Amino acid sequence: MPETTFQAYQVTAPKQPAELVTLSRDDLGEGDLLVRVTHSSLNYKDGLAMLGKPGVVRTFPLTCGIDLAGEVVEAGGGFAEGDQVVLTGAELSETRPGGYSQYQRVEAESVVAAPERLGPWGAMAVGTGGLTAMLCVLRLEAAGVKPEDGPVLVTGATGGVGSFAVSILSRLGYEVHAATGKDSEHPYLTSLGAAQIIARDELSGEPRPLAKERWAAAVDSVGGTTLANVLSQISYGGSVAACGLAGGHGLPATVMPFILRNVALLGVDSVHATPEARAQAWARLDELFTADDLREVAVDAAFTDLPELSEKILAGQVRGRYVIDAA
Ligand code: NDP
Repeated sequence: MPETTFQAYQVTAPKQPAELVTLSRDDLGEGDLLVRVTHSSLNYKDGLAMLGKPGVVRTFPLTCGIDLAGEVVEAGGGFAEGDQVVLTGAELSETRPGGYSQYQRVEAESVVAAPERLGPWGAMAVGTGGLTAMLCVLRLEAAGVKPEDGPVLVTGATGGVGSFAVSILSRLGYEVHAATGKDSEHPYLTSLGAAQIIARDELSGEPRPLAKERWAAAVDSVGGTTLANVLSQISYGGSVAACGLAGGHGLPATVMPFILRNVALLGVDSVHATPEARAQAWARLDELFTADDLREVAVDAAFTDLPELSEKILAGQVRGRYVIDAA
């Protein structure tokens, strides 16, 4: 490790925003591998952690950043010096120091080799958002959902999870309906493969127990009233993969879709995804995308842009994904 000191964004106390601090090797946590972080990413949860909102960081002080990609500088856990690696979730920025640091020590258990075609930049363009979208699609596939069943809805479609869900489903041959609150982003969603755009307002009224059957399945990152409205409009035997709460953590629904239409509500968590699930999801993502394919969805940002971008993502003003240049 050549540098003796390096920079990181750390939250030092509850309810305090993260500060840019200078750290040395002795400040790093425990783990099998020392990684020189080249890239990280920005997720909704990063916005919460960076601005000192409750519910993410659970030990203080802690380095933020739920994702990282970089090069192994001290080997361990089956990885060699010089290997390009990726780590998402796994309690980074919750109980373990995360990716908003130029170096990080990590447990090898949840680390994967950087996917071949995506590389470290592409892996962070995917990041937790894209990985979660893939995990949602894998849950739908495991539940038996197929392209010929009918259209699949994606809510929060211009967000990180939503953008990837639209792209993945469209590349897999599904007819994708994308629900968004951003009128100006219809061309973006169409370019990702959405066949139809649904106005967010259509899903924000008082939910009925059951409504006209419209979608064979859905990927929902919004929760709340939106998810309740989605459930009431899923076709007989369909499934909904629910992973987020951008619109609220409540669920003002009834059991009617479950008991009268055989609808399944499938919960998706990426933080504690098993090594097998991670490997499967990354392999599928690497089959579907090259890093170049992701230039539309992901834009580059500097390390020091993080405080401003955190405000933007919590205000729902972010489109797609940000790759943070941490080098
Ligand atoms: P983003 O902020 O990138 O995307 C969220 C999108 O939801 C927004 O872009 C917007 O899309 C829509 N949205 C925002 N506010 C509202 C609202 N009040 N009502 C309806 N729609 C809204 O976040 P991410 O994609 O990173 O994360 C999305 C959610 O998924 C978050 O709740 C996050 O915590 C969760 N998540 C969960 C994971 C898991 O492991 N379970 C992993 C990753 C994320 P539009 O304008 O197009 O409608």
